[in-house]
Amino acid sequence: MNLKHWCKLFLVYFCFSGILSADVGFVIRKVPTAKKLVALTIDDGPSMKYTPQILEVLAQKEATATFFLIAKNVETYPELAQSITANNHSLGNHGYEHRHLQKFSHKKLLKSIAKSQVVFYDAVGFLPKYFRPPFGKLTDAQLNVFNYHFQHIVRWSIDPRDWDKKKSNRAIIKHVKKELKPGSVIVLHENKRLIKLLPKLIKAINKKGYRCVSLDELLAERT
Ligand SMILES: [Zn+2]
Repeated sequence: MNLKHWCKLFLVYFCFSGILSADVGFVIRKVPTAKKLVALTIDDGPSMKYTPQILEVLAQKEATATFFLIAKNVETYPELAQSITANNHSLGNHGYEHRHLQKFSHKKLLKSIAKSQVVFYDAVGFLPKYFRPPFGKLTDAQLNVFNYHFQHIVRWSIDPRDWDKKKSNRAIIKHVKKELKPGSVIVLHENKRLIKLLPKLIKAINKKGYRCVSLDELLAERT
């Protein structure tokens, strides 16, 4: 066997062992799975205006999702956070308030994490294991702090920019359909447009043979 063959063999072994030992790590962008499952993640709730309607759509479409909630809103509407968990959706912490955490000092960050986690504990009886930073950004040093308090920081693999008012619902659905892969994590926001967009989006995802599941379910199916 010459060097070329060894290189090939090593490459095959390297790729294969990579697949076998694939793990999601602390920061999740997508989940390695062979099944046609995806996670819809919905940020910035809960609100009386939209959360009950979103839950209704998900129930109608037999889909589960993951809600990244702002603790201050949970403080105001603990019953909405309870409805989310009671309906088998996953729940994550999206900060006490929707602030840029990168500007927080170490002390301020710790206090904010503790304050928000207590709010969730009081509302739903457990400490969220997922965290998604507002605006999606953290410094490397902050990432270590979060590693101490959460199982995963959840980012996303598909951002259809649903907050962009210039983008039509049709364009958003097209974007998601094009990027869809087993284990995709899709970021959406709790807002007026989502009520109309969500049933159409789930329908389009189902039509491609994919099912929308909570992050808990998706992680349970990782390979
Ligand atoms: Zn947000």
